[in-house]
Amino acid sequence: MYEFAVTPAVTQIRRRGVTITEVAPGSLGAELELEPGDRVVKVNGRVVRDYLDFRFHTGGETELTLDVLKRGGEEWEVEIERGEGEDFGLSFENIAPRQCANECLFCFCKGNPPDARPALFFRDEDVRLSFLYGNYTTLSSITDDEMARVIEQRLTPQYVSVHATDLKVRAHLLGVDEKRADISDKMRRMMDAGIEIHAQVVLCPTINDGEVLRKTVEDLAAEYPRVRSVAIVPLGLTRYNTDERLTAVTPEWCREVIREVSAMQRGLKESLGTNFAFLGDEIYLRAGRRVPGRSHYGDYPQIEDGVGMVRSFREEFARLTRRLEKSAPRDAAALHGTILTGTLFEPVLSELIADLNERFGTRLKVTAVENRYFGSEIVVAGLMTGECVEAARGELEGDFVVLPSTAHKSDEPVMLDGTRLEDLERRLGLPLRALDFEGFARMVAES
Ligand code: SF4
Repeated sequence: MYEFAVTPAVTQIRRRGVTITEVAPGSLGAELELEPGDRVVKVNGRVVRDYLDFRFHTGGETELTLDVLKRGGEEWEVEIERGEGEDFGLSFENIAPRQCANECLFCFCKGNPPDARPALFFRDEDVRLSFLYGNYTTLSSITDDEMARVIEQRLTPQYVSVHATDLKVRAHLLGVDEKRADISDKMRRMMDAGIEIHAQVVLCPTINDGEVLRKTVEDLAAEYPRVRSVAIVPLGLTRYNTDERLTAVTPEWCREVIREVSAMQRGLKESLGTNFAFLGDEIYLRAGRRVPGRSHYGDYPQIEDGVGMVRSFREEFARLTRRLEKSAPRDAAALHGTILTGTLFEPVLSELIADLNERFGTRLKVTAVENRYFGSEIVVAGLMTGECVEAARGELEGDFVVLPSTAHKSDEPVMLDGTRLEDLERRLGLPLRALDFEGFARMVAES
């Protein structure tokens, strides 16, 4: 996963305990004189490796003993009695992710420009991040300790990149031997312990599509509801991943996949009451088809993987329109600017924005930003870079530019190629607003 999902502490040296980064004023932590830089090493005699351990060991306990290593080197033993559910008011350092031991054919690292920032080559494979953020792991190198932790701490659900249940195919895709590729026992152990699994298939033309995909979906569906859903997303090839074993995705291939998976879904809906296996939005859009309706997705089990995002966006947009009908913007015509998006989503967004302009008088324009950094095959908005945006400068209109908030790091205004938003704003000569949908809706409603 790209670091946009979570900031990997690549350079962080593993030390004992977990470091406190903030203490809320007036909180229990402040009362105990805990400070940023202190490390909590043990809770009730149990070792703390990260904030998940802290959360787990303190959860539900009212009498606690914390072993704390003060930032000055002093060792404290802090006895605490707290009210039920009373929060410590502490924030902790990020989890330092564990690295994967695979060599996937389609790994994003192989798709990076050689001079990309080192952080973009970090291959995280961490069951903790899977639980916390929905990052996928292959489980192929999960240790016994990690497995025990998932079960003991109930780190459910887990998001697992299965790709294929055919072992030969899975081993080929992951670049590991068949023994390591075989995760059936590991999945079973998790499921038997009540851990739910959401599976993912990165679908590669001619490798794990067709009959292999049919078998994968069938095998996983046999475990429903312990395996809750399967997301099927297409291979993304940048101009740097030129591995000859990979075949690029085409609109015809997408249409064939839709045809095959729709047939499977009909059967699954009948037998399980859910479509269970969901295609990524990209497959529909590349095929030139409309994404399915709301009811297709149930509770959107894998929306973060781009499955149902377009449908959900359309719904949010419809809600915004209804709100504006009741309370129209005061000076809509003054809202004159350009919204940037990826080439894949541009037709959908253009249609919605054209409707908004017509109904309410806003003057917004949508511009598709071609991905020059990774190559034009990369069509999603979240991977656009500062260089790509600058190249689209001639197409900007109005008084400001809206950038999707997914195009910069979640905790810092920096884009994938290292461009800082304030520098980009200066180079564009226009105010830049990095907005998620909520921010966009507020901007329109308050205009
Ligand atoms: S699991 Fe595969 S795709 Fe993910 S980081 Fe490792 S090698 Fe890359």
